[in-house]
Amino acid sequence: MLAEIRGLNEECGVFGIWGHEKAAEITYYGLHSLQHRGQEGAGVVTTDGEQLKLHKGQGLVNDVFKRVDFSKLSGHAAIGHVRYATQGDRTIDNVQPLLFHSQTGSVALAHNGNIMNAYALRGELERGGSILQTSSDTEVLAHLLKRSEEPDTKAALSEALCRLVGAYAFVLLQEDKMYVALDPSGLRPLSIGRLGDAYVVASETCAFDIIGATYEREVLPGELITISDTGIESTRFAIQEQRSLCAMEYVYFSRPDSDLNNVNVHASRKKMGIELAKESPVEADIVTGVPDSSISAAIGFAEQSGIPYEIGLIKNRYIGRTFIQPSQELREQGVKMKLSPVRGIVEGKRVIMIDDSIVRGTTSKRIVRMLKKAGAKEVHVRIASPAITDPCYYGIDMSTKQELIAANYSLDEIGKLIGADSIAYLSAKGLEKAIVERNSLNQGICMACMTGEYPVRDIDQKEFSYTRC
Ligand code: AMP
Ligand code: SF4
Repeated sequence: MLAEIRGLNEECGVFGIWGHEKAAEITYYGLHSLQHRGQEGAGVVTTDGEQLKLHKGQGLVNDVFKRVDFSKLSGHAAIGHVRYATQGDRTIDNVQPLLFHSQTGSVALAHNGNIMNAYALRGELERGGSILQTSSDTEVLAHLLKRSEEPDTKAALSEALCRLVGAYAFVLLQEDKMYVALDPSGLRPLSIGRLGDAYVVASETCAFDIIGATYEREVLPGELITISDTGIESTRFAIQEQRSLCAMEYVYFSRPDSDLNNVNVHASRKKMGIELAKESPVEADIVTGVPDSSISAAIGFAEQSGIPYEIGLIKNRYIGRTFIQPSQELREQGVKMKLSPVRGIVEGKRVIMIDDSIVRGTTSKRIVRMLKKAGAKEVHVRIASPAITDPCYYGIDMSTKQELIAANYSLDEIGKLIGADSIAYLSAKGLEKAIVERNSLNQGICMACMTGEYPVRDIDQKEFSYTRC
């Protein structure tokens, strides 16, 4: 039996650059483009070859770096992080990168994912005399690294990474080297690019575009990359498994302009809409998408069905994601503030409302009600991903099973609960088709929260009282 997630968590974003005189500024711009992956805190650590320097804070990237004098963050390499915090862990200590000093040198870490056996590893480390400073699972890697008896950092890191179970994309910085690692199932996205002679690494390729870098390749599952002034070196700390890149990255999290594993996010979302229209057609007058993440799928649905795409909903850009509101009451309030129906478009019409996913059902219910109040004659809900029936253990905010509407109600019941005239989800096959078939490398995806088939199952039951990223 898998343990359930207790807190709420969202994606984080990592960034790194080696070999550029404006490393800190570039990291700042990179983090800007990854802001959608976490709005609770941000930070940068630089190295000038002798010393690691840190600046981090709570809030949006802009706020954290508003008054920063970048000349104080000088150096030719940097790593950065944006994070979304769970309710109980909103302390500055947990904001990354985490920086540790010792007599043998310093190390900074930035991480995206969830280390499932962190609880057991923390216990082991504490029994061995380690004093952990944060409640973040990321810190475990630093301590494992420190305790290793291997002669050099690369070997110590390989040994430490082999002890971790779960999903992780790590970027580490020492005075004279940067290390990049991806879990053996490749659950989280991580790409490498070039900016002139410099190497860059980021959770999403949209970070390369903003700084003018070119995409080189994906970090491979189980790969450990070392970057230094002598160049780039790749080793394996684990045998490469079939990749299980998170399907929800395509469905919802990532930016449409990013390419994950060589598949463009917008193009895959459009294909999800096309597949959905093939699988679950319905007669209607217009197709509309919930902004922003469902627009691509709505365009695909409209194209396939021949029913015109219309802007039936408008988003207030200055309100944060609904999920960020901590309580159900505030979340519902958030939906109201965030979206408005376009009365002149939906009035008297049969509307197909496309959303990327349903988690608790709060958003869909509100929107159906909103569209009907604005005069829509019928509202047919079409969801561009399969029903989410199982929690995520790999660092994505997928609630507990009790809160997942599809884990507790049948399709008909969900339709009634959200007030839809009809409802249909995309099938798992349809989703796979929209992502995997476009993938030239033909590597796999994780759809565990929709199918219950977990690619990594070795879970410590007490795990989730710890802060994940
Ligand atoms: P809900 O209102 O709980 O059903 O949430 C569904 C909405 O939240 C969808 O419209 C998605 O765009 C978005 N969403 C889906 N998964 C997540 C997630 N893990 N974290 C934040 N938002 C999400
Ligand atoms: Fe992504 Fe779902 Fe797999 Fe978690 S369980 S990694 S959200 S596809």
